[in-house]
Amino acid sequence: MSFHIPALPYSYNALEPYLDAQTMQLHHSRHHADDVSELNKLYAHKNLPALPLEEIIADIRSVPEEIRQNFRNYGGSHLNHCLLWQVIGPARHSEPDESLQKAIDEKFSSLANFKKNFMAAALARFGSGWAWLCLDHTGQLEICTTPNQDSPIMLGSSPILGIDLWEHAYYLKYQNRKEDYLQAWWNVINWQKVSELFHQRLELVSRSQ
Ligand code: MN
Repeated sequence: MSFHIPALPYSYNALEPYLDAQTMQLHHSRHHADDVSELNKLYAHKNLPALPLEEIIADIRSVPEEIRQNFRNYGGSHLNHCLLWQVIGPARHSEPDESLQKAIDEKFSSLANFKKNFMAAALARFGSGWAWLCLDHTGQLEICTTPNQDSPIMLGSSPILGIDLWEHAYYLKYQNRKEDYLQAWWNVINWQKVSELFHQRLELVSRSQ
């Protein structure tokens, strides 16, 4: 098995001025690509379960101990970045579809309040990691954060939106102004894609119950 970085459905400069072209290019073609290359080396291990990456990550203890931590880092990174590239895109002022909006209103009162809670969670994550909007195992929306390249899938949750909190995701443009990066990021969310993922994941959760 061999993994590849996915081609982006937009150009590196398409998310300007919110995410700059140089950051996008380095992030996708270097950071993500390097992690995929490390992941491919780990896939040569003979005792790795013959399962899709997401299923192995969901049961990280099934990975042989001598490669488990690296697999967690590089496998998690690949899943996390693949999701990220899908849920951002050129600013189009998109909005959650009707059913995702309803689920957000039920859980967080409003989209504005969801954003506030999400920002607070992201700012509270110390060091490198990610902030997520997920479906928990019952299909309820939840905000969570993970350290390093851990995926919410390891916690039994299904991510539908994620923001990369590693410095490589923002430092060239925003330096220490992490909050400005987080504020800018709302402009490039592809809510249509997030809504699609919401429906897909909701169906998977309800099928597994
Ligand atoms: Mn990253």
